[in-house]
Amino acid sequence: LLQTQFSLLQKDNNTIGILIVFHDITDLRKLENTRKEFVANVSHELRTPLTSIRGYVETLLENYAAGGGHTYNSLKVIMKHTQRLDNLIKDILELSKLETNELKMELHELNIYECIEDILHTYKEHCEEKKQSFRLHISQNLPTVESNEYLLRQLLTNLLDNAIKYTHESGDIRLSISPAEETIQIEVSDTGIGIPHEHIPRIFERFYRIDPARSREMGGTGLGLSIVKHIVNLHNGAIKLKSTVGKGSTFTVILPQKQEKPSAAFDGK
Ligand code: ADP
Repeated sequence: LLQTQFSLLQKDNNTIGILIVFHDITDLRKLENTRKEFVANVSHELRTPLTSIRGYVETLLENYAAGGGHTYNSLKVIMKHTQRLDNLIKDILELSKLETNELKMELHELNIYECIEDILHTYKEHCEEKKQSFRLHISQNLPTVESNEYLLRQLLTNLLDNAIKYTHESGDIRLSISPAEETIQIEVSDTGIGIPHEHIPRIFERFYRIDPARSREMGGTGLGLSIVKHIVNLHNGAIKLKSTVGKGSTFTVILPQKQEKPSAAFDGK
């Protein structure tokens, strides 16, 4: 609590009372701590690939001076870390766009299937590359949702990327989209490594990862699920996660259907 004290004076400067105002700054403190934590995390995440790049460039320079080899492999590692930096910066910008509500006003009526048809094609190919099966169950005549093409695609690509990433070769990835009571359910399931239940409550936090080294190795940024959570919130939707270690995970996103406006005949006249 922050305390501010004022003396109440009469015209002749006699004190007739004291006014004490308490400001609850708990939320401000929390916000400040979250911000500091985020900056610390980002700096760490940026430094890790940069340190590697720098190390390899130094070796290349020394080799170059000595007229020696290993150039190709070093350049490949540098390329990989550069890609990681690029992914990270992209995700940070994405998150910041979502947090400043830049995209909030752009929700409009949308046909989900039309909007993601090409994504389905791309992910079928990604799965084939990893010898995984990609099963699709999309209900016919899906109702429209109040959404945004860009957000919906971001949401799906983040969940599908993870499903593929954290599932071994020959596993199964499944995407199902169906209407439920006044909502639409988007379910992304995999038969991958699963998430231990003690991690589930924190999994949507920024930079929270079960195995940071593994995530980085796969090109992960630790921001995908927090982006997903933000997008779900922008829709006033919900997200659920069920997972069993060694068996797989199912992420279920629930989005409100487009509410029909009452027609003139029923508007009380
Ligand atoms: P990352 O870029 O590390 O994948 P995310 O925010 O997308 O970051 O996910 C956070 C963490 O949640 C991952 O590092 C991983 O440990 C875990 N995770 C996410 N999706 C899955 C999944 N489908 N199967 C197993 N673990 C997952």
